[in-house]
Amino acid sequence: MLNGLQLFKKEKQKNKAKKKSDNYTSIPIKIQEKEETKEDGNYIANNHESNNIDDRFWSKCPECGEYTFNKDLEENLFVCPKCNKHMRMDVRDRIEMLTDKGTFIEINKESDVVDPLKFPNYIEKVTSYKEKTHESESVITGVGRINGIRYVLCVMNPAFMMGSMGSVTGDKISYAFEYGAEHNIPVVVCSASGGARMQEGMMSLMQMAKTSRAVTKLAEKGQPYISILTDPTTGGVTASFAMLGDIIISEPKTLIGFAGKRVVKQTIGRELPEDFQTAEFMMENGFLDMIVERKDLKDTIYKILYMHKRK
Ligand SMILES: [Zn+2]
Repeated sequence: MLNGLQLFKKEKQKNKAKKKSDNYTSIPIKIQEKEETKEDGNYIANNHESNNIDDRFWSKCPECGEYTFNKDLEENLFVCPKCNKHMRMDVRDRIEMLTDKGTFIEINKESDVVDPLKFPNYIEKVTSYKEKTHESESVITGVGRINGIRYVLCVMNPAFMMGSMGSVTGDKISYAFEYGAEHNIPVVVCSASGGARMQEGMMSLMQMAKTSRAVTKLAEKGQPYISILTDPTTGGVTASFAMLGDIIISEPKTLIGFAGKRVVKQTIGRELPEDFQTAEFMMENGFLDMIVERKDLKDTIYKILYMHKRK
């Protein structure tokens, strides 16, 4: 049997002809926002200091600094072949990786960002992200199959306002859990978020309670919820549904935390370990069940869902 990586590569090759050559050139995703690379950061996007390297073809690893040919990086699921750094992955690629070909049907695709506080320049900002990402919100939700098993999949998009949780993000995630409960199927969420969306103030914070309530609706039906943490999972998302999974899995070296490292350090007035807020640190301290490499994610999710199905 082919493993997840081999299957993914095979599918990719088939799709290659269909894809436009520039489809993956923005990977790893370039982040322009100031707050996105700062204290929570320890991630630096693909911003080359030198103009000599053409980033349409090459990407620099934020961990080891090595350049990799974009095509090779894509075939390696955007994991650095030199140091195994799991770089950010396009949401659509991740959905393709975690579902059987042609089975994913998006739910609430048309849901659009709302501006409850009439926050200055919010809509303009959102519009620019929509143009850049061709997505309408910071999460994609839908139903698909994984080696034949039907399940709900939500994938958060760090390229859309840093995956921040606006009211519609919360709505879509809550609805996905309710859909899972109603149709008696499991839910998998891939989180990636900078936390609350400040432009929606209190409305954003309320999403923590809303999504947490939706998680319990699924639990009442006895269906499993697998939470996958991808880089970075922070703020209100960590403080709500991301940490409520029946099984919590992280990709290696993912940044996982609530407040930023500097804030925590100032608050408790102590030096923090070097690996503070990494997946490995969280695993050691009992917050995670597993750290799974990207190439093994599909198989791992499938096995867990299969075990549950046989019960
Ligand atoms: Zn590397």
